[in-house]
Amino acid sequence: MFFAVITLFPEMFEAITAYGISGRAAKRDIVQLHCINPREFAEGNYKRVDERPFGGGPGMVMMAEPLAKAIQCAKQLAEQAGAVHVPVVYMSPQGKTLNEPAVQQFVDYDGLIVLCGRYEGVDERLIQKYVDQEWSIGDYVLSGGELPAMVLLDSVIRRLPGAMSDEQSHVQDSFVDGLLDCPQYTKPDHFEGLDVPEVLKSGHHANIEKWRFLQRYQRTLERRPELVEKVELSKQQKKWLKDLSGK
Ligand code: SAM
Repeated sequence: MFFAVITLFPEMFEAITAYGISGRAAKRDIVQLHCINPREFAEGNYKRVDERPFGGGPGMVMMAEPLAKAIQCAKQLAEQAGAVHVPVVYMSPQGKTLNEPAVQQFVDYDGLIVLCGRYEGVDERLIQKYVDQEWSIGDYVLSGGELPAMVLLDSVIRRLPGAMSDEQSHVQDSFVDGLLDCPQYTKPDHFEGLDVPEVLKSGHHANIEKWRFLQRYQRTLERRPELVEKVELSKQQKKWLKDLSGK
């Protein structure tokens, strides 16, 4: 999948290309990540990318022109890479909040061009002309769009075919089927007075599956009850719940 990130701090994206699942995906060429610095498209000796806001007030605003040129450069790179459906996404606290269904949709694109703001944000006209979607990672404000962009990239990359060594491992992640994940245990059997649930050591796959589902359901009910209302349960899962309530 093609990614171009428009950022004043390209070095930060080593966190994506050098480590873990996303790093492996980059090395295997499952992911092509280009970082484009808008400063390269800025004019004058000082290569300014920010200016004071019209109307006064604190801080600086990212200027539209260098960003527009950087986005055009990203679009050319996408074309050369044969990526056709490549929306321009602006990471912004004012965007829709990122969630699992949104991430799943991103996986279906050929690529993404991700714009990272800094200072007080970017000139509104750039957003009007060039941005297709605005996404937030939550109702709080960070100093820049780089960390939100990395959150988006990581969540998309781990879902790309071939990115994870165990293809199935994301299937049981929280939110994938609407429920939270179940508790996980590994060696040793005893830890500071706590034991691993016996069923997980039984080797009885059907019982393990049932236990895990009931744990996931109960956890979601306790921690995120609003999610349970939207979950579509299988016949088997409904039966497990019915057996549990004895009805
Ligand atoms: N003045 C802006 C506002 O209140 O909407 C915030 C600007 S913020 C200091 C600088 C940049 O960080 C933004 O342009 C955006 O790219 C990024 N950013 C900050 N918080 C974010 C969030 N919750 N989600 C996504 N991007 C965020």
